[in-house]
Amino acid sequence: MRTILRLTWQDRNQRGKEPAFGPLSLSAHKTCVYPAHAPHGRRLAHCMAFLVLGAVPLDVTAAEAGGVKVKFAEPAGSATVAVFALAKHNVRLDVNPNGEHEPLTLRIELPASGRNYWPAEDVQVVDATEQPVSARHNGTEWHNFTIRIPPRRTTYLVRVVARPDGSQRVFSEKERHAKDTVTDLSATVAKWYDGRRAALCIRFDDSDPTHLSKAIPALREYGFRATFMINPGMRDERYAPRHRSPYQEHRTEWEAVARRGDQEFANHTSHHRGAINDQDMEHEIGDAARVIWGLFPNRSKLLALNLGGGTWWETKKSLRHYLDQWPSFLVTGSLGMDDTYGNRVAAFRRHVERNLQPGLGWCKAHFHSIGKGRATSEKNFRAALDIAKEYESELWITGLADAYKYLTERRGTKLTLSSRGPARVQLTILCSSNAALYDQPLTIDATLPKSWGTGRVTITDSEKRPIEASLPRSSDNRLIRFHVQPIDAEYAIEHHSSN
Ligand SMILES: [Zn+2]
Repeated sequence: MRTILRLTWQDRNQRGKEPAFGPLSLSAHKTCVYPAHAPHGRRLAHCMAFLVLGAVPLDVTAAEAGGVKVKFAEPAGSATVAVFALAKHNVRLDVNPNGEHEPLTLRIELPASGRNYWPAEDVQVVDATEQPVSARHNGTEWHNFTIRIPPRRTTYLVRVVARPDGSQRVFSEKERHAKDTVTDLSATVAKWYDGRRAALCIRFDDSDPTHLSKAIPALREYGFRATFMINPGMRDERYAPRHRSPYQEHRTEWEAVARRGDQEFANHTSHHRGAINDQDMEHEIGDAARVIWGLFPNRSKLLALNLGGGTWWETKKSLRHYLDQWPSFLVTGSLGMDDTYGNRVAAFRRHVERNLQPGLGWCKAHFHSIGKGRATSEKNFRAALDIAKEYESELWITGLADAYKYLTERRGTKLTLSSRGPARVQLTILCSSNAALYDQPLTIDATLPKSWGTGRVTITDSEKRPIEASLPRSSDNRLIRFHVQPIDAEYAIEHHSSN
């Protein structure tokens, strides 16, 4: 005999957490039925959550299962949908049209943060025969999507697909710090390049001509590197709203910027119009990536990607498929700097200062057009640059891919120290990131032993080539800083006494 407990969705939401069922919830099948005929707002309130105790044991908590919200996106008569958590990041939807004859549209919302978090870019939907189902996503909210399904009593699976090549090995924070107990020398991978407290990535979207006429000259004046999200596609007559191709109209100027190499280019898709199917998506992401690779033939192919606000993407594949095929990462969590949002200069200052606090540290902001009557006035744009200048010594002002590479490489790095006598220590660096894509140098901070006192310290690689080091100001002047390639390598840190 099975026991059925019943509670309302409303109860759960008001308390902001799953009800406490103790250990029983660990072996519970959870179902949530939405009566489709209820008006949109009331449907949630009417939703019932069932706990069928004693069902198939799950290695997932009820809360994780509860994170996924499913509802009909359009009036669906008496059709119902039930959601079952099968495992972590794997839910089954049971659809019952209850006599409805028209296709149904289901909205699926995956938790984008918190402990129920789903990596939305790794998710795919399949039907009862394991055939991929087309999902329609918003370009800037991948965790929130719809599927259009026939009015049949059937099931679908929404789940994270495993990556064939797996992910890179990640080491613990402790393993990025090493100490040699014989000499007392210690070393650590700096949180950000050159020991800066935070990274600041300023981004410009849509290849607007004012980026060439206003933004880039100003950035060069301030000595800043920023990221330009370009739409390099040719004019496409089929898509009326995006008739122009500002990139193509100023192509030679963009090529000159790329040749100079002081700014980063990123993928904002070919035409900024989304995609109607996978073939279209392939072109929108892949064609833009190829243009940028052509502009930077000697650089890593890894690019920042933003699919564009207000765009819609129909795909049967996970977004990860595209991120792997055209090596890229999604840019999220950036402060919009259009004047229309109000008080942007103050917001930018708060954003920078907050990211300088311990534990945070990747500060992102984005602009559209710059100048009189444009998205951001030149005055506000320059005021933001002035704030960045004010904190320049604490910020790594750089491109999005540079910062992403550093973070990823650092997570995959382990340091080991072993003494080779009282005046020589060997530093072994283990780095699990793919060196073909991840080529941003890492910063190593070493604290020298007190016993080394004065005298000269040298750092050499395994071929005895000297590595340039700096001596940043520190409380006891024992800090030495140098940059290394993110690959497995050995270095000798050696003390030469002055006499
Ligand atoms: Zn855009």
